Amino acid sequence: MRIANDYLNGLMERVIARNPAEPEFHQAVGEVLTSLVPVVEANPAYITEGVMDCIVEPERIIKFRVPWEDEQGNIHVNRGFRVQFNSAIGPYKGGLRFHPTVYEGIVKFLGFEQIFKNSLTGLPIGGGKGGADFDPKGRSDLEVMRFCQSFMTELFKYIGPDTDVPAGDIGVGSREIGYLFGQYKRLRNEFTGVLTGKGLTYGGSLARTEATGYGLCYFADCMLRDAGRSFDGAAVAISGSGNVAIYACEKAAQFGARVVTMSDSGGFIYDKNGIDLPLVKELKEVRRQRISAYVDVHPEAEYHPGCAGVWQTPCDIALPCATQNELDLNGARALIGNGCYAVAEGANMPCTPEAVEALQAAGVLFAPAKAANAGGVATSALEMSQNSMRFYWTFEEVDEHLKTIMTDLYRNASAAAAQYGMAGNLAAGANIAGFVKVADAMLAYGIV
Ligand code: NDP
Repeated sequence: MRIANDYLNGLMERVIARNPAEPEFHQAVGEVLTSLVPVVEANPAYITEGVMDCIVEPERIIKFRVPWEDEQGNIHVNRGFRVQFNSAIGPYKGGLRFHPTVYEGIVKFLGFEQIFKNSLTGLPIGGGKGGADFDPKGRSDLEVMRFCQSFMTELFKYIGPDTDVPAGDIGVGSREIGYLFGQYKRLRNEFTGVLTGKGLTYGGSLARTEATGYGLCYFADCMLRDAGRSFDGAAVAISGSGNVAIYACEKAAQFGARVVTMSDSGGFIYDKNGIDLPLVKELKEVRRQRISAYVDVHPEAEYHPGCAGVWQTPCDIALPCATQNELDLNGARALIGNGCYAVAEGANMPCTPEAVEALQAAGVLFAPAKAANAGGVATSALEMSQNSMRFYWTFEEVDEHLKTIMTDLYRNASAAAAQYGMAGNLAAGANIAGFVKVADAMLAYGIV
């Protein structure tokens, strides 16, 4: 990849040399630097004052061992991470991912993206991310509890309600947040909003569970309406069947869409009659089963092993909500060929750069993750506010805030794209709008 600015191109080369074998991090940085070319050319101080060099370097990376004992008495040692990437506009904020594929490069890519996403929400939160190469799948509640307690026994030294406020991500849902929060509270002997996504009985916010999926649909709805389209009557393909996918499915259906696919890492289901969401919730949130069990109840639906095929399904709108790089050039071509007119990213970086380029070139409306899935972290920040105030808002109040935030975010990304001569390119607009606020704060601090 060559970036059309000599300084940024050299910076990209240095990022690759200093962070070898971390392709996801390179991809995330490359994508942002590419869209910032007109911004640094209009504002050279971002280069001369060192902002560009600082923003690609985490303020701090914490890496630690997590020993724990399974039910058979075997000892396991996993690796935990927290990347505190940028605190220019507020305490580090970003989720924890528990998945066997987690390594430093994944956490850095996610932490880097989080800086701009959090800035875009308009709320005072910096960027961070963490996780471990632990796989909760197939583990008992006791084993997950032991792992979470061991993980927090190290992490608690580095976080706090005004320092760093983790949340969930892949493999970290309400069960894990409960164990993590309980251990933090025990170690610190304090009850503060140090984690978000908490249960409603101990400081959680109404609508946080729904927020990323709902926010994705609110954002996509703004984009569709501006183009004279809507969810109403549209066929929607969704990948994933976790937190983001389930609540994207719920809101899309409320907007009048027919969601026809959902998936997990084993394969996908196609239900031309529209996904039976209560069944998916039961399978995934209660029974923790595979999505293939869907066809036991709905034999008229189809189950296909393997995930990539989900994008071969004819649809009007695609919402990739599973994981990074799940929608590649082949998937993009299939979507274009089948007449899909909008793609909105629910997962972080689910589309490869080649897929994004092909979709944009074909005139498919494209909502980038940084903006489109920011509803989760925005509502986490609302949870922090409620915790500080020792007060709760109703579901409707939080949902109303979420709608306003997603609408503003859409407008800001659109306006930034237009200001720098890239009207309609929401991916560039989101990067620019998110960057400028953080970069200006960094300029104000001098060299720190
Ligand atoms: P969950 O763990 O709840 O669900 C993840 C879903 O994606 C599961 O269906 C899972 O299948 C599937 N999946 C995970 N890894 C893979 C893979 N390698 N290949 C195929 N399918 C896979 O996670 P979330 O819904 O919370 O997160 C999904 C995405 O959204 C992530 O990219 C996350 O970073 C992003 N995100 C989440 C936010 C949130 O609030 N939760 C906020 C913003 C972004 P299986 O169960 O088989 O592993």
